[in-house]
Formats: sequence, C-alpha cells, structure tokens
Amino acid sequence: MEAIEVPVLIVGGGGCGLSASVFLSDQGVDHLLVERHPDTSRIPKAHYLNQRTMEIFRQHGIAEDVLAEAAPLEMFGKVRWQTTLAGDGPMDRRLIHEMDAFGGGELEETYAAVGPVLPAKLPQMWLEPILRRHAEQRNPGRILFHHELTTFSDEGDHVLAELRNVETGETTTVKAQYLIGADGGRFVGPAVGIEMQGPPGLVNTTTAYFSADLSQWWRRARSSRTSSARRTPTSPATSSRWGRVGARPASSGACTSPRPARPLGRGDGHPPDPRAPAPAGPGGDRPQGDGLDRARAPRRPLPGRPRADRR
Ligand SMILES: Cc1cc2nc3c(=O)[nH]c(=O)nc-3n(C[C@H](O)[C@H](O)[C@H](O)COP(=O)(O)OP(=O)(O)OC[C@H]3O[C@@H](n4cnc5c(N)ncnc54)[C@H](O)[C@@H]3O)c2cc1C
Repeated sequence: MEAIEVPVLIVGGGGCGLSASVFLSDQGVDHLLVERHPDTSRIPKAHYLNQRTMEIFRQHGIAEDVLAEAAPLEMFGKVRWQTTLAGDGPMDRRLIHEMDAFGGGELEETYAAVGPVLPAKLPQMWLEPILRRHAEQRNPGRILFHHELTTFSDEGDHVLAELRNVETGETTTVKAQYLIGADGGRFVGPAVGIEMQGPPGLVNTTTAYFSADLSQWWRRARSSRTSSARRTPTSPATSSRWGRVGARPASSGACTSPRPARPLGRGDGHPPDPRAPAPAGPGGDRPQGDGLDRARAPRRPLPGRPRADRR
C-alpha cells in the first residue's frame, strides 16, 4: 500500500499529543495523530493546570472550555492539614496548618499581576476530552484513536513509520518530516536513545477516584476553618466533582492505577460523561470511518524551508 506523506506525525493522544496537535493546527502545520487506545484516559491523573499552561490554552482558544468545567479557584486555592475530615473524637477535625496555594486567597493578586489567566484545576480525564474535541475540530479526520505506531526508522531527512489500526489489524506506512513522540516516554524516546536521567520511582502514588457530595465539609471549612484531610488531600476535582489522592513511599511496592468503581456520570445525578462522542463544533463533525483513508487526501504543506536547510 502506498505510504501516506504528512509533515508531522504525532504519536500519543494524551495531554501532550493532543495539545501539540491543536498548536500545529493553529500554525497551519498539517499532521496526523495516532493514539492506540479507543478513547482518552479513564483515570484522573494530573489535576492542576498551572498558570503558564492556562496562558497557552488561552492563546489557542481552549481556556474558556477548560474553565467552564474546572473547579473555581476559590474551591481549591487553599491547602489544609487536619487530623481527620470527620468524627467526634477528641483528636478529630483538628486543624494543624493551612495556607493559601495555587494562586488562591491572598496569592490571587500576585498571580493576577503576572498573567491574563489564573491556574485551574481539572483532572486529566476531564481535560483530555476537551483537548480531543479541539484537536478534531481543527484537524478533522486526522486524529486517529485506536491506531498505534508499531515501528519507525529515521531516514535522515524523513521518518518512516508503520501504523496499525488496532481494531482491524490493517497496517499503513507513513512518511513524515517530523515525528513527535508524545507517547508518555514509552517507545519513541527509548528507541532514539533518550534516557531518563536521575533516580526513577521516587514515589508510588495511588489515586482513588470517587463521586460523593462533600460540599458540606468544604463549606464548613470555608466558614469555620475546620475541615480538610490529612495525608490524603481531598478537593473538588471540577466545579461539581470531588477527588482524593494518596501517596505512599516507593518502598511499599508497586501499585496499580485503579479505574473508577462504576461508570461516572451515567444517570445518577452526576454530570454527563465527557467520554461520550463530542458534539459537533464550529470546526465540523467528528469524522466517520477510518481516518487513514482521509489522511491520504492531499493537505497543506509544512510552511518554511525544507528540513535539510535547517540543519
Ligand atoms: C495515576 C496517575 C496520577 C498522576 N497524577 C499526576 C499529578 O497529580 N500531577 C501531575 O503533574 N502529573 C500526574 N501524573 C502524570 C501525568 O499524568 C503525566 O505526566 C501526563 O499524562 C503525561 O502526558 P503525556 O501526554 O506526555 O503522556 P500520556 O498521558 O502517558 O499519554 C501518552 C499516550 O500515548 C499513547 N501511546 C503510547 N504508545 C503508543 C504507540 N506506540 N502508538 C500510539 N499511541 C501510543 C498512550 O496510550 C497514551 O494515551 C499522573 C499519572 C498517573 C498515571
């Protein structure tokens, strides 16, 4: 089968790959993104979007959608250490220390003075569908979930990559000027000799994601300053969801990443599942069929000089 030619191939549809796709689209750079999973991540993972990230999202017209879902600053801009969240024992609910954080409280003025937008809090499992939607709207037919990179080779002035449709097993060769390894360091980096520096595995983290209305404790905390968690922070995950994260020493062994105990946001009073197909947006409908067929259509060339001239 004839190779598809594309200026940039992005491998990985996590936060980095999807963001890179949006940024390239906005620069008019044609590209193809492949992600081996059928959909975006199902675990919350990172949840804090720092100010610089939000600035970049703002420049690319994503910040508004993020802020519409994110927990507002007044709900996460403080950190408290407390003996317990609940309970009536003599040591329960005792405040140890609290401080403004993440640009909240008294920090807000300082943060606001150095940027047009403040930090936000939105776990990755809710952020990635937003990024995916924007990526697909700006590059219809070329954001290919359920497709993986199986091999690639550096041919000097281009890269040859083999992609596999995970569902059908069909393989396709792609010739790209650049390959972005946004695969979470799994394959592309090690394959080109990039190594992790410094000691790995400093800490194992367990994330327990649950849905529960903790707002009464939060409200009480905000008025009487007596609530929070101790070693495991509990905080609003978004404007209407809550999350709790615990850490344990690396020496306590490997841990797995649990999936939500039940589907989230399905007819039980929770917000709609963001993992459902995105609605049609101003950039067009989500394309149907195998995107690789669409990817064969001629597209915009990469602006600028040929790669060889840039060396
Ligand atoms: C449980 C957990 C909690 C975390 N909590 C935090 C936190 O609180 N704060 C924080 O800053 N960070 C946190 N992180 C780390 C953060 O999630 C990662 O740094 C971030 O996801 C990296 O983004 P990425 O896009 O580079 O890679 P990833 O999110 O790993 O995405 C890479 C994507 O590439 C795909 N892929 C891999 N190989 C191929 C291939 N051959 N072909 C096609 N697709 C491929 C994968 O399926 C994946 O979707 C957490 C991570 C985990 C697992």
